[in-house]
Amino acid sequence: MSCLNRPPGIEAFLPISSLVSLKYWLVTGIFNQVHPSGLIILMIVLTTGVLLKRGFCSWVCPLGLLTEYLNRLHKFIFRKNVKLPPWLDYPLRSLKYLILAFFLWSIILQMGAAVLDYFIYSPYNMVADIKMLYFFKDISHFTIWVLVALFVLSILIRNFWCRYLCPYGALVGVLSFLSIFKVHRNEDTCTDCRKCTRTCPVDIKVHKTSCVMSDECHACLKCVDACPEKETLYISASKGNGILKPWIYATAICLLFMGGSLAGRITGYWQNNISTHEYMFHVRHLDLPIYQHTRANVSAYNKESWLRMMQGIRQTGEKRSPS
Ligand code: SF4
Ligand code: SF4
Repeated sequence: MSCLNRPPGIEAFLPISSLVSLKYWLVTGIFNQVHPSGLIILMIVLTTGVLLKRGFCSWVCPLGLLTEYLNRLHKFIFRKNVKLPPWLDYPLRSLKYLILAFFLWSIILQMGAAVLDYFIYSPYNMVADIKMLYFFKDISHFTIWVLVALFVLSILIRNFWCRYLCPYGALVGVLSFLSIFKVHRNEDTCTDCRKCTRTCPVDIKVHKTSCVMSDECHACLKCVDACPEKETLYISASKGNGILKPWIYATAICLLFMGGSLAGRITGYWQNNISTHEYMFHVRHLDLPIYQHTRANVSAYNKESWLRMMQGIRQTGEKRSPS
């Protein structure tokens, strides 16, 4: 049977499993090897939020990039930036925080160490990456319609996904308040031309503030780039000092990602410990009830015998593979 190698980085698309792993690590000290790179990527994202604001959204996230292109399409179609009225915009913005609160409540508050352990080593969690692949490979009509609706809404309303629904963005947005880096405006040299505000993709009134404090600020630095006055608008750790050039800021975020991933590889926590033989076994049996879950509960299984069986399959595969 021919097969492709699974890139560990795809675990970035398993944020719930990664959040479970993070709590498990914090309460038990065990860095589990089921989806370790997902946990590393989650920690890098959280670190960028604390250190460098919400720059992850504009400089790294693939959905952020897609959103940017859809924003351009929006401008091309409507010839201007259509905005929702504040009475609708503000309640909708709270949706992503409600979704985030639900996940934090379910995982951080509700799951004890034993429940976390049971989830992490469950057949369902082990194949969460395969299930994600099959979810898109055998995509249902309902999912297609949901994606079409999101696509259309993202053209009609700029930043629809990031602004209203993305819990990841909400999490980084909350953490961004801790970051010492902010976009500052020098009121003495500002000519009030408003180019910054007109450029801002998330409609922050940059020309009215001396320091952008909004959780919606993606630190894209488009406003900084648009400002015609020298050192009037800039990102820095304190007003007037330590100004970061936009390219240095972007490089710092990229280095955090590359450094985190490299550290994971060097310490042996990047690649999971599920062998190709185990994956082939999982794929063959994916329809069995043991791989399913109902709502937030994984199917019942016996952890010891399950892990013993996986170890047996791994050892059989190692004997068969020429080393
Ligand atoms: S344009 Fe400026 S204020 Fe607006 S999101 Fe980008 S960095 Fe933040
Ligand atoms: S672009 Fe610069 S000069 Fe113009 S309003 Fe914004 S901060 Fe002031």
